[in-house]
Amino acid sequence: MAALMEKIVSLCKRRGFIFPSSEIYGGVEALWDYGPLGALLKNNIRNLWLKKFVQNREDVVLIDGTVLMHPKTWEASGHLESFTDPLIECKKCHSRFREDQLTKKECPQCGGKDFTPSRQFNLLFKTFLGPVEDEAHITYLRPETAQSMFTNFKLVQESQRLKVPFGIAQVGRSFRNEITTGNFTFRSKEFDLAEIEYFVEPGKDEQWFDFWLEEWRKFFLDLGLKKENLRLYEHPKKSLAHYSKRTVDIEYKFPFGWAELAGVANRTDYDLKRHSQFSGKDLKYFDEETKKKYYPYVIEPTMGLERALLAVLCNAYTEIKGGRTKTTEATKEIEVVFKIDKKIAPIKVAVMPLVKNKPELVKKAKEIFEILKPHFMTQYDEVGSIGRRYRRQDEIGTLFAVTIDFETLEKDDLTVRDRDTMSQERVKIKDLVECIQKQLLKMD
Ligand SMILES: [Zn+2]
Repeated sequence: MAALMEKIVSLCKRRGFIFPSSEIYGGVEALWDYGPLGALLKNNIRNLWLKKFVQNREDVVLIDGTVLMHPKTWEASGHLESFTDPLIECKKCHSRFREDQLTKKECPQCGGKDFTPSRQFNLLFKTFLGPVEDEAHITYLRPETAQSMFTNFKLVQESQRLKVPFGIAQVGRSFRNEITTGNFTFRSKEFDLAEIEYFVEPGKDEQWFDFWLEEWRKFFLDLGLKKENLRLYEHPKKSLAHYSKRTVDIEYKFPFGWAELAGVANRTDYDLKRHSQFSGKDLKYFDEETKKKYYPYVIEPTMGLERALLAVLCNAYTEIKGGRTKTTEATKEIEVVFKIDKKIAPIKVAVMPLVKNKPELVKKAKEIFEILKPHFMTQYDEVGSIGRRYRRQDEIGTLFAVTIDFETLEKDDLTVRDRDTMSQERVKIKDLVECIQKQLLKMD
């Protein structure tokens, strides 16, 4: 399985999905940059999420809060106190580990068995607000986007005239100084979270929890992940986070094993109460109809965008031994197809002249490229034999390859090749945009 992961990591680098951050300096542990294709894919996942949970719902609104917040936020949230992992250090080689993740008391680096006593290590990244670097100016990079949805609860509710139940959604940068890293991008120190804080009446929280867990699970099926590679994990009561009444993770079967992809937590009224207490502002909600005043309970579905992306890549990676076509020299090779779901594939169409040394074909292909560009993310590709170009596009998950040949010049039509079936269909140039649009909609 490690071998499969290596192949995915290598393809991601070679084809421009994911690079180590600051690669020319040797990279930085657990930091990754998204290349041209990775950035597009991430955007597509984000947009699908926004469409499903903000555009298609009248009870969820979007905000965009800051990464740096008032330092009091993290006192109130409990992060200063409780956002810690147990850290131990190998006395021989000084590698550091999360105590709860070492299965046996043996250093994975050097085999040493002597460790320092475990201490609680806070995962918040510390920084200073303003030019004075003293205690009074310390703040933290947010480890989750949730807190600005709580601190803005009243402003959002009143400005948008929202009635409980309603939700606030946010996608944004978050930072955690993780001790244990590895497994490619799985545990990164900087990432984007997509979260919803859904405010409900106390007593109705359990049914809303079930509702959101199901909505969340369905989103991953929408991303094209295989059902059999998804499962739920119910956190036992004793290991719940300090604010949670119930937490269920959605796990994905990565090549390195089952691991957390996303989660849903019942945060109760913990956050609104604490922020009321620490700020002195009343964050209770007043129900106009029942005349009741209360702290809403909060159901929080959350997911890391990059984790979803990693699952999409693992899910999509397909090897065909001997290749799919039996007519070319590819027969003996291993062919790779990234079967990324149509809704989120980074490149929708590749435009190719049959050969690049015929100016009339190149000219026509560039015209077609201009026609398609405003409608779809399109790539122009003329280097290499046509078979090689098809395979390169298959490798990055491009849905359709449009080929311009000599017949195109006479009949104003061209071939549209489908990534998954490899079927080729001749389509009139004037119908091309509509034809591709139709195929994309079919999958929606
Ligand atoms: Zn060691």
